[in-house]
Amino acid sequence: MHKFNFKSLVSIDTVNVANKTVVVRVDFNVPLKDGVITDSSRIDAARKTIDYLLDNNCKVILLSHLSRIKSADDIKSGKKSLLPVYNYLKTIYGENNVFFATDGLSPVVDEFIKKEMKPKQIMLFENTRYQDFDLENNKLTKKESKCDDTLAKKWANLADVFVNDAFATIHRCHASNYGIIKHCKQWCIGFLIKHELENILKFHDQAPKPIVSIVGGAKISDKVILLNRLMAMSDNVLIGGGMSFLFLKALNYDIGKSLFESEMLQVASDIYKKYKDKIILPVDVIAANEFADVKGKKIAVGNSFDNLMGLDVGPKTTKLFTKKIKAAKTIFWNGPTGVFEFKHYQKSSKKVAKAISCATKHGGFSLIGGGDTAFAATKFCDKSKFSFVSTGGGATLAIIQGSDLPGLNYFNK
Ligand code: AMP
Repeated sequence: MHKFNFKSLVSIDTVNVANKTVVVRVDFNVPLKDGVITDSSRIDAARKTIDYLLDNNCKVILLSHLSRIKSADDIKSGKKSLLPVYNYLKTIYGENNVFFATDGLSPVVDEFIKKEMKPKQIMLFENTRYQDFDLENNKLTKKESKCDDTLAKKWANLADVFVNDAFATIHRCHASNYGIIKHCKQWCIGFLIKHELENILKFHDQAPKPIVSIVGGAKISDKVILLNRLMAMSDNVLIGGGMSFLFLKALNYDIGKSLFESEMLQVASDIYKKYKDKIILPVDVIAANEFADVKGKKIAVGNSFDNLMGLDVGPKTTKLFTKKIKAAKTIFWNGPTGVFEFKHYQKSSKKVAKAISCATKHGGFSLIGGGDTAFAATKFCDKSKFSFVSTGGGATLAIIQGSDLPGLNYFNK
């Protein structure tokens, strides 16, 4: 189990927020194309907390990052502005009830919040990561991302209560989700974080067996801790995607020009030695000459890859995987088992998604974690077919692997 004491977190519904000015750290890091929001689910996911505060007659101040700010152009181009989010919020809460502060640190904004803003109104601050770059001196300062205390204090001074509801950043130590807390009189977590934790924590060592984890995706290097954790707690770990070639290579199979991280060979070899009874590796793959959406060739593992590149696991492997998944009582999936973005290489990921939905229908618990995986899973099956699809990428994995969660540390009673 995780060393963090989740049970002692202070939840928004146990704090008296009525009539207060509440600063909420939300995650409005939405995908944008030409200034248009292509998926609003992150904003929609924060609405339960926002609505609750409005119902409680609060003035609601929203802080969020959007992407990363590394240069003056990132700010000047407006490409990473929260303006589209402001426009979206107005369509929900009404033109006259939502304000946008391009410079949330200005005394004018402070005055406005205190004297003119009314309860049941919302003020969205511009991208918190604009504070990472000093436009005047053309310098990357990283005040938000490196948790600058003066910055954190300025935001905190606006709040009677601080609510953290930015689940996707709980593993980060930034001024707007962590630094702010020590300067606030009262703080708590919002409904989104509460809901995510309640569901992710159902996946643990004592969950109903068999426990089956499916891991895939491009690389292993950022998932070593996760893999070890999954190996320790699962009855079977099904390895697909790019990372399976590393394991095959470590076992001296030919993998042609498939993706693999040579510096991770020893790590894969060690994991395999320790957990070989639990691991299921591909027995066949679909490979192509290049990384492209072209028809591939089926190759049995053990045969020559003819210098091709494996882009999906093959039908025999998919059968092995889906059989294990359908018999499981607890399932976790992180990482597509093939290049699901290509229609020629999405078969196994699609069948894995369907098998998980089938196991869920028969009473199993299924948790889908990670941005790409959530996208793949919901592309092939409706979200309602899984027990829980987590909105966090790194944050979800951090909880499962037992890493520190700075964004929640202060919230323990
Ligand atoms: P991750 O973020 O590590 O879960 O990686 C997800 C990405 O892995 C997706 O964009 C997939 O296209 C990619 N992926 C899956 N299988 C392979 C493969 N065999 N070779 C290269 N990339 C892959």
